[in-house]
Amino acid sequence: MIRVAEIFHSIQGEGILAGTPSVFIRVSGCNLRCRWCDTEYTSWQPEGTMRAVHEIVHEVLAYRCPYVVLTGGEPFLYPELAALCQQLRAADRHLTIETAATIYREVPCDLLSLSPKLSNSTPWQREGGRFARRHERQRIQLEVLGRFLTNYRDYQVKFVVEQPSDLDEIQMLLARLPPIPKERILLMPQGVTPEELRERGRWLVEACKQFGYRYCPRLQIELFGNRRGV
Ligand code: SF4
Repeated sequence: MIRVAEIFHSIQGEGILAGTPSVFIRVSGCNLRCRWCDTEYTSWQPEGTMRAVHEIVHEVLAYRCPYVVLTGGEPFLYPELAALCQQLRAADRHLTIETAATIYREVPCDLLSLSPKLSNSTPWQREGGRFARRHERQRIQLEVLGRFLTNYRDYQVKFVVEQPSDLDEIQMLLARLPPIPKERILLMPQGVTPEELRERGRWLVEACKQFGYRYCPRLQIELFGNRRGV
C-alpha cells in the first residue's frame, strides 16, 4: 500500500521534460521537512489515503497519457514503489521519479530527478525548530546520492536556490560526488509566487551562464500559482 495525496493530469512544470503533458502520482509522507516545502500536505501535515498498487495503476492508465511522474512527498519511502514502477512501465508509460535522494532503492524508471536539499531548506524557525536537527542530519546522504548517480542511467540533479551563497554550497557538494555532466545539473529558484520566481530567476540565469548549468522553471507556479492538482 502507498499513501497517495493526489493523482492528476497536467504538464510537467520542472526539469528537462518541462512542458510535457503528464499524469502525476503524488505520494504522501516525507522524511524531510523543508522550510519552504510547496506541498506541505505531503510532509508537514501529510494527507491522503492508502492505495493498493493495482488501484493506482488503473487510475493512471485511464488518462491514456504516455508520461507519468511519481512525486511527493518522498516516493522512495515505500517498498511498493518497485511494483508500481514495473507495472507502469509494462504498460509503456515513460516514468519520471522525483526524489530528495536520501533513501536508496533500485526501481525501473526512465528519468530519475534527484533534488538534494541545501541548507536553505532547514526549518530552524518553524515550530520551534523541532524538525530542524533531524532534517539537517538527513538532507544530504552522500552514499545514497553516489549510488543513484552510478546505477541509474538517465537522471537530472535539481537544486532549489534561494541566495547567491547557495552556489558555493552546490559546488562543494558536487566536488564530493561522482562527476555529473553539466547539462544534467539544474538550478531552480525558490519561490511560490511568479514574482519571487522572476526576481530570483534573473540572477540565477547569470549563474547558469557562468557555470554552464541549466535554468529550471516552475511552470506550474507561473501558470497556475501555488495550488494543488496542477
Ligand atoms: S523533500 Fe520535498 S516533499 Fe519533502 S519536505 Fe522537502 S520539498 Fe517537501
